[in-house]
Amino acid sequence: MRTESRKQTDLFESFFLHQEEESLQAFQSQVEAVMQTFTETFKQADHPFSGVQPEEIRRQIEAVMDITEEARPFQDVLKEAVQPVIRDSLHVSHEKSMAHLHCPPLLTGIAGELLIGALNQSMDSWDQSPAATYVEEAMIRYWTSRAGYGNQADGVFTSGGTQSNYMGLLLARDAFCQKNWNQNVQKQGLPEGFTKLRVLCSEEAHFSVKKAAAQLGLGEDTVVSVPVDEEHRMDCSALRLIIMEMEEQELLPFAVFATSGTTDFGSLDPLEELADICRENDIWFHVDAAYGGGLLLSSHRHKLAGLEQADSMTLDFHKWLYQPISSGVFLLKDSDHFKWIAHHADYLNPEQDEQEGVLNLVNKSVQTTRRFDALKIFLTLKTLGTDLIGSMIDQTIETARLAAQEMTRRSAFYPANPEPQLSAVVFQYRPDDGDGDVDRLNRRLQQALFQDGRAVVAKTKVHGETHLKLTILNPRTSIDDVKDVLDRVEQTAVHQRTEGGSLDES
Ligand SMILES: *Cc1c(COP(=O)(O)O)cnc(C)c1O
Repeated sequence: MRTESRKQTDLFESFFLHQEEESLQAFQSQVEAVMQTFTETFKQADHPFSGVQPEEIRRQIEAVMDITEEARPFQDVLKEAVQPVIRDSLHVSHEKSMAHLHCPPLLTGIAGELLIGALNQSMDSWDQSPAATYVEEAMIRYWTSRAGYGNQADGVFTSGGTQSNYMGLLLARDAFCQKNWNQNVQKQGLPEGFTKLRVLCSEEAHFSVKKAAAQLGLGEDTVVSVPVDEEHRMDCSALRLIIMEMEEQELLPFAVFATSGTTDFGSLDPLEELADICRENDIWFHVDAAYGGGLLLSSHRHKLAGLEQADSMTLDFHKWLYQPISSGVFLLKDSDHFKWIAHHADYLNPEQDEQEGVLNLVNKSVQTTRRFDALKIFLTLKTLGTDLIGSMIDQTIETARLAAQEMTRRSAFYPANPEPQLSAVVFQYRPDDGDGDVDRLNRRLQQALFQDGRAVVAKTKVHGETHLKLTILNPRTSIDDVKDVLDRVEQTAVHQRTEGGSLDES
């Protein structure tokens, strides 16, 4: 009986990571096989995208998705099934991939992911992450201090900007309900009169603010858009006026969500003035710096002046800090506000733990089981140092500035933000003869470029009209790469117009 059960468990030896030689060798050979498959396939991918049609990709993926009852050699699976995935992925590290806020990951981040997976620590309770807990705490202290916060500050790693914004709105809401109605939302739900609550953000703010309002039972209509100035920054006099009007209508504006680095234009709301307005009106001030947070390490740091006055903020490391997805933080000026989400579970973080000084990070998170993302940030900062990362960010800002200049010089290119504040340039291609449907042309240009695969740009709408967008996050992207992409836009436009637009409407 005993020998039989022994044999049975022996079967599993080489599938897990443990101290036995057999396991360590299997681990090494799998990692090597991944590297080999990856580099072989990746080397052939000299464009940001293969340009293969969606239907064809789907067909190829479905062809390898069969799951069998028997095991197979890992190497075979990589070769047969993973290669097509690698081949038709978007190659975000390619210097001509410049569409979204979607960064090339640093090697330290990629290596960090391997460590994170191998260690598989869970950040909810100290006994599941006895060392990792302190790494995260130290990284949070690093970023709170970098952001200019004092000793009362605290924070937590999140899955990204959406979750961080959600947390900001959640804590702002609960703090306000306690103060205004003496109601504990966590225990008693929303107070009567909650329909009067209002959140203010610029019309360029990220959609996750509205999503958070919906999910928090306030409804999207709670979020009121404040107009922006010509540089797409929140207009402070408009904000003052709206707050005044709301007070007359007995509405309750309880939170302002500023954006440092809007998703399209990378515009930076005027934080110092907004902080003043919030202080005067006793309103929670949240800064969404998912994109602009990268400036904290750059020589453009001064553009974030006032950030330290925020009650809470969002930073993303998978945007402009070159980390693999996912990784971000939510930072809070006064750690006391984490009490609005604290919950004690007997099996995980009983109150006695806290009395004995055990640090269970679940108290600060809306997640329970949570990744050890702090490790890859730590590994990156410790290895590269902040100057080098800062100069990468500076480089992309400079390339974006030159890109906008280049567009201004060329006919038919109309940058919507000729002096980009960060590294995004929004523009429209308008043929000189002024004929035809410009909106349609720009939409098709983006599609045609993507299908060609040699350059990846994004599209967005400005005042209802389709524009193209370059988001330059890769410091290896040079102005010559940008010029090539603009040439390609031009050629594609000429082709589109002579062919009468042969692409499908979809
Ligand atoms: C990307 C982005 C978000 C959302 O962050 P995720 O990490 O994608 O969840 C929020 N705000 C801004 C300004 C962003 O650019």
